[in-house]
Amino acid sequence: MAITAIRGFNDILPSEIGKWQFVEKMAREVFENFGFSEIRIPVLERTELFARGIGEATDIVEKEMYTFADKSGNSLTLRPEATASMARAYLEHQLYTFDPVAKLYFIGPMFRYERPQKGRYRQFYQIDAEVFGVGNPVVDAEVILMLIHFLRRVGLEKLELQLNSLGCRSCRPRYKEGLKADLDEKSFQLCEDCQRRLQSNPLRIFDCKVQTCQDAIADAPKVIDFICDECASHFDKVKEYLGIAGLDYHLTPRMVRGLDYYTRTAFEVVSYDLGSQNAVTGGGRYDNLFQEIGGLDVPGIGFAIGMERLISLLPKDREFIQYPHLFIASPGKETHREAYRLANQLHVEGIRAEFDYEGKSLKSQMRRADKLKARYVLILGEEELKKGRAVLRDMQDKSQQELPMPDIVETLKRKVFGH
Ligand code: ATP
Ligand code: MG
Repeated sequence: MAITAIRGFNDILPSEIGKWQFVEKMAREVFENFGFSEIRIPVLERTELFARGIGEATDIVEKEMYTFADKSGNSLTLRPEATASMARAYLEHQLYTFDPVAKLYFIGPMFRYERPQKGRYRQFYQIDAEVFGVGNPVVDAEVILMLIHFLRRVGLEKLELQLNSLGCRSCRPRYKEGLKADLDEKSFQLCEDCQRRLQSNPLRIFDCKVQTCQDAIADAPKVIDFICDECASHFDKVKEYLGIAGLDYHLTPRMVRGLDYYTRTAFEVVSYDLGSQNAVTGGGRYDNLFQEIGGLDVPGIGFAIGMERLISLLPKDREFIQYPHLFIASPGKETHREAYRLANQLHVEGIRAEFDYEGKSLKSQMRRADKLKARYVLILGEEELKKGRAVLRDMQDKSQQELPMPDIVETLKRKVFGH
């Protein structure tokens, strides 16, 4: 039997790639306008980076990591997210010596051992943006604005920004206690996983999909009622800055995010178009991450966008495929050679030209030009070529005209680029 791809690992085919390239191009454009620079991080890291950075008692670290030992027995992990690696790179290369503020973005695949289903894969792509080195709430608002601006630029409309504060190292333990005390009384209602979560990391119960667990937390205490004065004032400022920029948000006191490193501001953007897996992107502030991975005390904030989910939401009426500008039809031996020569010349001039490699009949070449959706076809007939002429067919209005061969490249450029 022919070899197939691994379950949960997808090919992105040429018919789809236009959407990916469009989204990536927009991300680069928008983020760079906001002063972000691209960084590229390795696919593999030491397992410890994620175990400590993301937190042992998270879904990712507990059960979703692609971890294996290499031939020297080192425990390595395929990156399940980008933030920890980006923080490591910032520390390792001492980017803060140039400027304490680093605004970085990253685009690439992530790996999580999850049950593959629609919208959930084992290799998936994220677009990630992070600001390191600023604790001021103005940057929380700025990062969110950039995210929303980007999502609108790619054409998403039905968006809702959900906002919460998760408190910090000093106030969250109090909240966890309060939550645990409340849930202890309803623990019989919790699924097996959540019974365990109740002991290790009760906040994660909010993310459980089991209905009885959802019922149990329906009137559980809210983080927002437990946060300290500093966290409360930080949160007020974030809301104020979002307000100044005219951005609407919904306070979602039960949105807690799945990763341990989040502190204070947490946000998600959901799309009404997406059914059950409706979070396209999520992010927040993480002022403890750097210390967890053994570094300086650096504040950070950022977000990760799931590209597959984003792409599934792109406007359906948009055309993302690039068709040939021109197909050169060449029915004879001599004309075939001319088609080859001309196509190469056109490629250098920036014209997407195709020609027939196999010397097929004119009819079958015209069929192929049609199938490829070429805008024009240049027909190199033997007789015409001898007279130094060729026929250009406009595939939209089906009109034809004879053109002189000597300055055909210039003529075609004028046609294709309109000048
Ligand atoms: P979920 O609650 O859906 O599992 P998450 O909290 O694990 O999401 P993050 O770690 O915040 O997700 O990743 C950010 C985004 O990456 C998500 O909003 C989603 O769009 C995307 N994403 C996460 N896991 C997957 C996956 N297995 N396949 C495809 N996209 C994913
Ligand atoms: Mg997840």
